[in-house]
Amino acid sequence: MEKQDVNDLCVKHFDWVERMGWHNKTPLEALALIASEVGEAVNECRGEKPTKEFGEELADICLRVFDLAQWQGINLQQEILNKIEKNEQRGTRGRRV
Ligand SMILES: [Mg+2]
Repeated sequence: MEKQDVNDLCVKHFDWVERMGWHNKTPLEALALIASEVGEAVNECRGEKPTKEFGEELADICLRVFDLAQWQGINLQQEILNKIEKNEQRGTRGRRV
């Protein structure tokens, strides 16, 4: 598989959801579905350690976020890089290191 950045994955997943005819009507609905995937991930963590399906549920969360970002015209890769940089500048915000 060729190397792909976050925005490539956003386009790839958005296009697939579009082909399937599964796009949501509102961003709020898309966010609710992201929350439902978080719930599925929670269910894979109820034992002593996460199940082998936990990674797939994390992927589902990411894919739904990628789809929403692409739909809303958000450059998610740049937003992530900006946020990492912002977090670096914030320091510990009073928390112990
Ligand atoms: Mg799932």
